[in-house]
Amino acid sequence: MSVNIIGEIVWVLGIIAWYIIRYPFERRGRRVPVASSRRSVSERVALAAALAGLAIVPAFYVATGIPKAADHSLPLWAVVIGAAIFCLAMWVFRRTHKQLGRNWSITLEIRQKHELICAGPYAHVRHPMYTSFLLMGLAQAFLLPNWVAGLAGIVGFAVLFFLRVDKEERMMLDVFGPQYRAYMDKTKRIIPYLY
Ligand code: SAH
Repeated sequence: MSVNIIGEIVWVLGIIAWYIIRYPFERRGRRVPVASSRRSVSERVALAAALAGLAIVPAFYVATGIPKAADHSLPLWAVVIGAAIFCLAMWVFRRTHKQLGRNWSITLEIRQKHELICAGPYAHVRHPMYTSFLLMGLAQAFLLPNWVAGLAGIVGFAVLFFLRVDKEERMMLDVFGPQYRAYMDKTKRIIPYLY
């Protein structure tokens, strides 16, 4: 089996793991009432970009081999690094879901009886779930032997993150006021100690 195929298989397994972690929260989320929602056009674009970059473009590539002109071949070390980063991403992703619990939403929403979470992964950064998306995007670049499909994840992450993060923090400040302000003073956004 070629290294390229192994990379693609690891990526598919990673996406399956992603869905297995997310699915129960999606189900449970439907039963938790929403107190306020900030769905907007830019929020829709953000979600669509993340879905396209981290799932649809790479899945289309794995299924069809398109766009062939952007193919390259992977060294084994790239697949090993990609697999390790994907594992780390899923570990962080799972921890953030467990920690947010009923407060989680796919979009910018405040649940009824929403609680501010500052523990677990949220003690280190304010947006650890977005950290896990960045790690997923990096893993994708190491695992897929194609420049377009490989780099689409990082682009999708960047669009989601930069369209959303200011609005999300403003929403949290509106709801939690000084409590969130104090939390912001203590934490970075996605990379501990750095950013
Ligand atoms: N930005 C966070 C959460 C992503 S899920 C992360 O990357 O880990 C998005 C929803 O989570 C938002 O709509 C908001 O309601 C909620 N949220 C974000 N930060 C939170 C926090 N510290 N405590 C509780 N809920 C939070």
